[in-house]
Order: sequence, then structure tokens, then C-alpha cells
Amino acid sequence: MIVYNAEPLDFSEKAIKSWEKKGYIYYAGSWDEIDNALCFTNVEVLIIRLSRKIDSSILKKFPDLKTLVSATTGLDHIDLNELNIRGITLLSLKKHNDFLNTIPSTAEHTWALLMSLARMIPAADLHVSKGFWQRDLFKGHQLKDKTIGIIGLGRTGRRVAHYAEAFDMVIYFYDPYVTDDKYRRITELEELLSISDFITIHVHLNHSTRHLINERNIEAIKKGAYLINTSRGEVLDDKAVTRALIDGKLGGIAVDVLAKELDHIQEDTLWQLKSKCQNIIITPHIGGATLEAMKLCEEYLASL
Ligand code: NAD
Repeated sequence: MIVYNAEPLDFSEKAIKSWEKKGYIYYAGSWDEIDNALCFTNVEVLIIRLSRKIDSSILKKFPDLKTLVSATTGLDHIDLNELNIRGITLLSLKKHNDFLNTIPSTAEHTWALLMSLARMIPAADLHVSKGFWQRDLFKGHQLKDKTIGIIGLGRTGRRVAHYAEAFDMVIYFYDPYVTDDKYRRITELEELLSISDFITIHVHLNHSTRHLINERNIEAIKKGAYLINTSRGEVLDDKAVTRALIDGKLGGIAVDVLAKELDHIQEDTLWQLKSKCQNIIITPHIGGATLEAMKLCEEYLASL
């Protein structure tokens, strides 16, 4: 019985020991090896991260596969239907809320993006790298008394709200499935968009959240507001968002996720606009990718 790790860089030694204790032989593989091989027999467990879409063409190379391990909460990189057909069990972090509540990395990254937008940090740093020193070009915004609108008050959204408290912000949220005593709920998304200086999105991608921000409701956004998205790229209708950026409706956007990620970023509408606008910040899906969080997640899944 083999555990094949397709992305073993910095993988937790403790997690490897847990797999071995369960009687598996741990094998550090690679996507290159998978691409170049026809078939891997005796592999019962396949460990992946986010580098590839897991579809039938990959899964059919593992005829003995019983378990797919993905240390993520979002699962849109996996063909779940194909797993069902093949009877393969998925081990992921989705719904492991008690454990997930101990991991703040994505909320911390959300806050880093929000601060980067408010104070134009990437553009200011680039300016200094080029040998300039003109502070008048980079007058940002104070957060105190600004309004933050949180879309999705789950694990990440709630932690972001907690950080916003420390910055003396006014906090509202929109989440049809959550009531909360501490933060004020807004029942209409358009209303939240219209009152927020900073809008941050923390929902899962599904049929009801795809293009949650779209041509219709983007009109409601307060002029000059900032938008942050660390959930999934397709939650935004890119065309609507790029138009709002060009028109100056949005003051700026910072995202950790794109509709087209990995090898396809050059086809992404938001990415294409980035070279022309300094108020677009994009990071390569690193919200959950801290050394601490990744190791803890790998160890947790190996212990189940
Ligand atoms: P969660 O399940 O704890 O919270 C999601 C919240 O969204 C829930 O409270 C739910 O009620 C709410 N919701 C559902 N539909 C909604 C809608 N239509 N409008 C408003 N709210 C709605 O999820 P989480 O752990 O906070 O993760 C949120 C997102 O962050 C997920 O998409 C996940 O994939 C993504 N994520 C990204 C990274 C990263 O590296 N960038 C890391 C972890 C998670």
C-alpha cells in the first residue's frame, strides 16, 4: 500500500510518520512523474495540493486509488463526480470546523491585502525600488471609523471581523445563513455594497455564489470602495469588476484567487488589466499557504 504525494515540497515529517504508522509506504512523487507515467499500481492514497485540477485523466493513472487527500476547504479543483463514480473517498478540511478554527492564515492574508490596498504598499515599494521618494503620490486611507462589509460570516469572515474591531472599524456582514449578536447583519447584498468602504468576500464557490458580485449589483457599490477576495475567483464576475475599476467606481481590488489560475492567468481579465492599474493587487492563492498552517493541516489529515 503506497501513499503517493504529488506535491511533497516542505511536507510535514510528522504527517509522513503518521501515514507510515498506519502501514503505508510513503512516496514523494511529482506532477512531472505523473504526467510521464501511464499507470501507478498499488497507490491507495494520493496527496495533492492546489497545483492541478484533479480530473478523470489524472485519476485513471491510479487504478487502485481509495483515498484522495486535499488539505483545502475549497474543492473546486477536484472532479467530485469522478470520485463518486470511482468510489474514491475524499479527505479534505471541509466541515472540520473545530480544527479549522485554530488556523488563521487566510484571515491574516485577507488583512494584509486590505492594508496593502488602503496604504498602496506594493506600488509604494515598487516606487522606492526604482530609486524614487515621493510621499505625496501615496496618500492612503486610515481604517479607523471606516466601514467594512463582510460577505460570508463563517470561519474566515468572523476572524476578519475580529481584526477589524482592533482597527476601530464599523463592521457589517451579509450572510443569509448566519445570525450574530456581535456584528450587524445586513439582509440585502446591495445595501452592504452601498455602505461599505471595504468589502471582503468569504463564501464557498457554488452555483449560488458564482458571480455573486456581478453587472447588476456592482452598481450599488459606494464610489471608491475597495474589494478584497480570498475565497474563489469565480465569485466575482470579472467583466463587471474590471469595468468598475476602469470607471473608478471601485477604488481598488486585492485578490488571492482568480477565475483563471495556474497556467491560465494570462487569459484572466483581471490579470490582463493589472499592468495598467496600480490599484490591482494579486497574490497566487497563498492565503492558507503558511508553513505553520500547511504542516498542521497535513498532520491533521494524516491523523484521521
Ligand atoms: P465557511 O464555510 O466557514 O464560511 C462560509 C460562509 O459563507 C458561511 O457562513 C455561509 O453561511 C456563508 N455563505 C454561503 N452562501 C452565501 C451567500 N450566498 N452569501 C453570503 N454568505 C454566504 O468558509 P471559510 O472557511 O471561511 O472559507 C471561505 C472561503 O475561503 C472558501 O471559498 C474557501 O475555499 C476559501 N479559502 C481560501 C483560501 C486561500 O488560500 N485563499 C484558504 C482557505 C479557504
